[in-house]
Amino acid sequence: MSHHSPIFETDKQHSAPTTSSVFNYPNADVVVQSYDGVLFRVHKVILSLASPVFADMFALGKRSDVQIDTLPVVPAMEDFETAPVVEAILRFCYPVNGAKLEAVADLYPVLKAAKKYMIEEALKSLRPSLVEMSTREPLQAFVYAASLRFDVETRATAKNSLRVPLPSAADEAELDLISGRTYQRLLKFRLQSIDRVHNLFRDDSWIDRRSFFQGCLDCCAQVVDQDGAKDVQWVAGWWREYMRLAELALEKSVTGEAVLDQDILLPPTLMAASCGQCKNRAITTLRRFSKVLADQVDSVIYEEAAKATFF
Ligand SMILES: [Zn+2]
Repeated sequence: MSHHSPIFETDKQHSAPTTSSVFNYPNADVVVQSYDGVLFRVHKVILSLASPVFADMFALGKRSDVQIDTLPVVPAMEDFETAPVVEAILRFCYPVNGAKLEAVADLYPVLKAAKKYMIEEALKSLRPSLVEMSTREPLQAFVYAASLRFDVETRATAKNSLRVPLPSAADEAELDLISGRTYQRLLKFRLQSIDRVHNLFRDDSWIDRRSFFQGCLDCCAQVVDQDGAKDVQWVAGWWREYMRLAELALEKSVTGEAVLDQDILLPPTLMAASCGQCKNRAITTLRRFSKVLADQVDSVIYEEAAKATFF
């Protein structure tokens, strides 16, 4: 996109451009103009320190086509470089408080501008924010991270996308920001992760049974026969109930957190509490075991995300 800033047309119509209330230094030596026409009176030396792109621009000493109050004007050329975005970016250049960016959709254009102008300070602060916000808006965050080609954040947001079902999280217009191939790879990553998480319930060789279960003749009804009759294990009904509820929970949200939910832990706890033999150790066992399961889920997802290529 290389539209010209509409402010010049507005100027011709004699409507005075507004000036930023935050960046309006009287001793400014350059004016940055947002795409929507707001003026920011700032200092070349400060912008040059924060951004090699600005540094090069000013070092070239290119004469500005437009001047305002004898100051050269740097117009923002792209439509995402609106006044709030320019202000947020300038807040990273000057020693002032950062902008409050609460929605991932507000963060995205600022990150895009930070990348374009190579403002390291902004990237260092905002890239982790993208991952933090992705727990709430994961697919949106994935699309933004992938469209900006941020590798670490793309993997992290892909992981968080497993917390929600895909169709409900997708905004079709936003999907235009990524390629069909990247989207296909996200789907493949999700399917493989979900498959491996469910396998934790089929092949439970990761469970150290001896540290979790002692036999209970009262409620451990089912005998599991592994490798012949010698390794007979007793599996408590309350434990099977926990596993059943955990697997169901993981169908809705594929993240370790899902199996630590109180709604899943309570029914088996109540079951165990009604068994004379199990009641004293069941709560401790469930607490420990649910954390082990949560770690297993998270490490499966972590491994899949580390293996995946998204671009
Ligand atoms: Zn029991």
